[in-house]
Amino acid sequence: MNRRKFITKTTIAASGVVAASSFLQQTAISQSVPIPSGSGAAVRPLSISTWWHGLEANRVAMEMMQRGGRALDAVEAGVKTAEADDKNQSVGLGGRPDRDGNVTLDASIIDEQGNCGAVAYLQHIVHPISVARLVMEKTPHVMLVGEGALQFALENGFQKTDLLTDASRKEWEEWKKEGKYQPVPNIENHDTIGQIVIDTAGNLSGACTTSGMPFKMNGRVGDSPIIGAGLYVDNEVGGATATGLGELVMRTVGSFLVVELMRNGRSPQQACQEAVMRIANSKIDLTDAQVGFIAVNKNGETGGYSLHPGFDYALAIGDENKMIAAVSFFK
Ligand code: ASP
Repeated sequence: MNRRKFITKTTIAASGVVAASSFLQQTAISQSVPIPSGSGAAVRPLSISTWWHGLEANRVAMEMMQRGGRALDAVEAGVKTAEADDKNQSVGLGGRPDRDGNVTLDASIIDEQGNCGAVAYLQHIVHPISVARLVMEKTPHVMLVGEGALQFALENGFQKTDLLTDASRKEWEEWKKEGKYQPVPNIENHDTIGQIVIDTAGNLSGACTTSGMPFKMNGRVGDSPIIGAGLYVDNEVGGATATGLGELVMRTVGSFLVVELMRNGRSPQQACQEAVMRIANSKIDLTDAQVGFIAVNKNGETGGYSLHPGFDYALAIGDENKMIAAVSFFK
């Protein structure tokens, strides 16, 4: 399946300018709009996750929450399914390495009280999300990176594992043969898992975990472990998470933007769309760059929107757990 669509830069710039100015007007008008009030009609529990691996993450999280489990435990267990899957080459074990052959992982987690934890450039650990949770729960800090994050993980009982599988090593060796540093961020290999859940008590938590951009520069960290960029949860309002080219998400603090837009009265769908439009207005070449957001508000309304077609997310409510193709800015 060819998931790429090529668009002229002229179209991108023109549409973006209109989008940005209408955004500013709407923001000015809606500044006094209160937080969305609880309708009482929300269906709980609920789980929303990026990409196809989101189905399994949703399944595991829903099972826990249907038994009364806490959102934070459910979301951690949910994304761990993708981290442990060695066939999944964009998260955890089996992730594609950087240009020097290192598999480096980024992850973040947020609970219903706004507590957050993150790790970046973490190597040799299958479950960076659990290390991020421990950073949140056991340290006075929010983020640990690199050697320090690994040291913290090992001190807390995590085992050192070789994360580079034969499949990812082979792809890396093929990539090296091209002989130039050109990690083209495209739609097919940007498959971070981000998940937001609401438990039966109505509390939200979120998690986001990735091996990042394949064949990135050694030391590169994306949006996924940056609180507010790859992930944001505000228990009064809702939560959002991002996938795609992290550099674009970071410069707009995308997930925070989505949640703030919801706070100001936008539906999750409108909020995701406006955040993507900010990026579309960046005037850089977006031909090969995918970005997708998913969001859920406190009432259990959900949304998803991406730059290009090809971004799918999984939504579980009640007994249903299904894939949804996100609406996209470019057609
Ligand atoms: N957002 C991630 C990053 O830039 C990649 C992805 O979503 O696949 O590191």
